[in-house]
Amino acid sequence: NANRKFHEEDLVVDVGGVKIGGGNFQIIAGPCSVESREQVCYVAECVKKSGAGLLRGGAFKPRTSPYAFQGLKGEGIELLQEAKEKTGLPIVSEIMNISHLPMFEPVDLIQVGARNMQNFDLLRELGRTNKPILLKRGLANTIDEWLMSAEYIMAGGNENVILCERGIRTFETRTRNTLDLSTIPVLKKLTHLPIIIDPSHALGYSYMVKPMAMAATAAGADGLMIEVHNDPPHALCDGAQSLTPEAFDDVAKAVFQIRPFACKF
Ligand code: PEP
Ligand code: MN
Repeated sequence: NANRKFHEEDLVVDVGGVKIGGGNFQIIAGPCSVESREQVCYVAECVKKSGAGLLRGGAFKPRTSPYAFQGLKGEGIELLQEAKEKTGLPIVSEIMNISHLPMFEPVDLIQVGARNMQNFDLLRELGRTNKPILLKRGLANTIDEWLMSAEYIMAGGNENVILCERGIRTFETRTRNTLDLSTIPVLKKLTHLPIIIDPSHALGYSYMVKPMAMAATAAGADGLMIEVHNDPPHALCDGAQSLTPEAFDDVAKAVFQIRPFACKF
């Protein structure tokens, strides 16, 4: 059960030896999509040096257009695993179909993307696994709907759910989505589950990532998810919002400076 009433203590999720929640703050960084061995290993080394605790990379991509790059699929997971072996960073990747679960064996934190937040069969099946799950908020879902989706996973016996706010659809078009930072205090009141903020997908443009990453940290998020690419203009997915490794280093420095002063709940 995700309800705070039954859990006084914040949940600490152990992701391949890296702790998230209950005072443990982590940055998950990496490319939107795994594109090649060189790309993912290079980005992994860079983000690790800057202080990221986990590596992200999409292998199965939920693209709006069926003609857009769909990901390297199983090969993408293998390349992430290589990057994990080289750097020691636990890996995070999105699952779209439960039939792919065996391929996700090396993945330390399985992501359910915004588009699948209410894929109840997928959630139920993930509830029967022992992998920590990163549950992104749906494009147009309320906080209560999101928590019910977390409970679909938890009802199967898998209590290790981390929530990720990635922006919601509003009338505003200057940002890709609208980052709902107010989820932080609301969720801290309603649930013991950790909350990660993803300013990359919420804002959609790299220049907006730093201020919102700083704000999310100050507001008491348990971590951040930030997209980093070796060559953003040529990224196969989400280049506009991706930071260069140098820009990520600058954001990470700012975030780690703020973290000791962050709001506590
Ligand atoms: C992603 O993390 O690359 C992704 C597709 O995110 P979202 O589900 O938040 O759009
Ligand atoms: Mn992306």
